[in-house]
Amino acid sequence: MHSAEHILNQVMVRMFNCGRCFSAHLNKKKSKCEIETVVNKAISTNLDVTEEIISLEKPNRNFNLTRLPDGIETIRIVNIGNYDSCPCIGEHIDNTIEIGEFHIISQDFNDGVLRIRYKLDDPE
Ligand SMILES: [Zn+2]
Repeated sequence: MHSAEHILNQVMVRMFNCGRCFSAHLNKKKSKCEIETVVNKAISTNLDVTEEIISLEKPNRNFNLTRLPDGIETIRIVNIGNYDSCPCIGEHIDNTIEIGEFHIISQDFNDGVLRIRYKLDDPE
């Protein structure tokens, strides 16, 4: 579930080229199908999910670290194949083959926050 969320985030960034201002697009039912298709396509390529620990002293990529507490020296990066990388402390699967099929249940946009609810069918 959690790994699917990373993929979903990456799909949103790629499709709408913007982290936060894609709500207008989502009002169209078509976009919902497109997102499902793109997410499932990424999942179905059986990407390995790996983690690495990087030092904050020489950050080599542009991660959003604004939510990090002070005093942290290393962060854990979760990579989903070459598809997505982001800092995370959550639990992840080893390969997207374990995710199953992704379906969007509903979405809404309130107070500047887009929420997408989704479910995953068990992998066959
Ligand atoms: Zn995560």
